Amino acid sequence: MIRVTPPNRAGLPRRRRDGALLRASAVSLVFLLAAGAALAADLTEQYRATADRLIASALADTEGYNRLAYLCYRIGHRLSGSPGLEKAVAWSVETMKAAGLSNVRVIPTKVPHWVRGAESARMLTPLDRPLHMLGLGMSVGTPPGGITAPVVAVAAFEDLAKLGRAKIQGKIVLYNEEYRGYGPTRLYRSTGAARAAEFGAVAALVRSATPLAMQIPHTGEMSYDDNQPKIPAAALSPEDAMMMARLVDDGVAVTVHLEMGAQMLPDADSGDVIGEIPGREHPEEVVVMGGHLDSWDVGQGAQDDGASVVACLQAVALMKKLGLEPRRTIRVAFWVNEENGGRGGMAYREFVGGKIKDQVAAIEMDGGAEAPLGFGAGVDAPSMTLLQQIGKLLDGLGAGEITGGGGGADITPLLREGVPGLSERTAGTHYFDWHHTEADTLDKVNPEDFRKNVAALAVMGYALADMPERLVAVSSGTRRGPAR
Ligand SMILES: [Zn+2]
Repeated sequence: MIRVTPPNRAGLPRRRRDGALLRASAVSLVFLLAAGAALAADLTEQYRATADRLIASALADTEGYNRLAYLCYRIGHRLSGSPGLEKAVAWSVETMKAAGLSNVRVIPTKVPHWVRGAESARMLTPLDRPLHMLGLGMSVGTPPGGITAPVVAVAAFEDLAKLGRAKIQGKIVLYNEEYRGYGPTRLYRSTGAARAAEFGAVAALVRSATPLAMQIPHTGEMSYDDNQPKIPAAALSPEDAMMMARLVDDGVAVTVHLEMGAQMLPDADSGDVIGEIPGREHPEEVVVMGGHLDSWDVGQGAQDDGASVVACLQAVALMKKLGLEPRRTIRVAFWVNEENGGRGGMAYREFVGGKIKDQVAAIEMDGGAEAPLGFGAGVDAPSMTLLQQIGKLLDGLGAGEITGGGGGADITPLLREGVPGLSERTAGTHYFDWHHTEADTLDKVNPEDFRKNVAALAVMGYALADMPERLVAVSSGTRRGPAR
């Protein structure tokens, strides 16, 4: 099939007075509409039989979920620099080989090595009781013996300036910001310590970035401003944050004791794991599909992002089982260090080297494996039409919706250089209830939803690797992936 420009613009005459011209234009309009309909049916019809086979095999598959169970229950969480991540890297190599993938290899990279150490927080006044806390990733620790200080509470960054240095200096700043979606709320986690330090605060406590209050603290990355002192930062359960903020608002003196043994160690060795089915016609052209293998050092990294990496692997494993060899190479990538550095995404970009033009598409899945809805894609309008034709094959799964977007932290280095990017989209009803907590465990991944994700990835991955056309990216800057 040849890519044509969308039918609405092509050669319609402007002058309407001439009857013949009008008839001609009507005829050409009919022709163009028919051409448009044929175009709309094209990839859908071309891949329907293969898609149906892939979907049937994904929906009957138990091997994928078993692999995820192994990753979650036998390896567990996988923070960069930890033995868990290196165990997971070795397991990924073995598992990709067992799935029959070719060219399985590790792309080595150094990763930051942050360790949590022992940590605790306690409210001393007006009541003596422990707080539900989790230190933020990359935070410094407290001095030995901890920090004891009065708490000053703010609901938003603007409140810092209103209070001013006189009221903040020497105190612990508590951010009790309401959850307004992950994107805006996570700013308090990632930059709260640096902004509090600007006013002389000695530590920062941040209400967890979650819509659900269940006395569970949520960790995540934070970073410092080089021009400000580095102060320790921890997340609190929403309940503990709300309680102390209310007490402070009521004029009660709240004092907290915080102890954190967190520290940065020298960079550690790690690496992305990739494996593939080489293309039958254009092995040099690659569709890469994956997620991140690393996680935080709590829970099991089941929804973030274990389910995604295993779903991508299983999608390609099923192609292999069915004897499908797409025209181009379909590659699975398990990137490392997405959570606190992004080194895996950069290492993959370096690995691709001068062959960036041969990266035909990059698909990232990093929003959990709840029921799949479809794909976001940062591509031009004709490419969007092609993707919608593929999407039709997924309508039966409820996963056929193609929208804009399509970024991802690990594929950003590729997208910046013009590689078309897609992200798998899911319902995400509970994703941020568990995200970065002790509760991100295998039981949260519904096996049926997981299998539907495998099916959606298999069909999209196969069609992109096999179809004669290539997607065209929209200019970078308009794409934004889900934040980590
Ligand atoms: Zn993630």
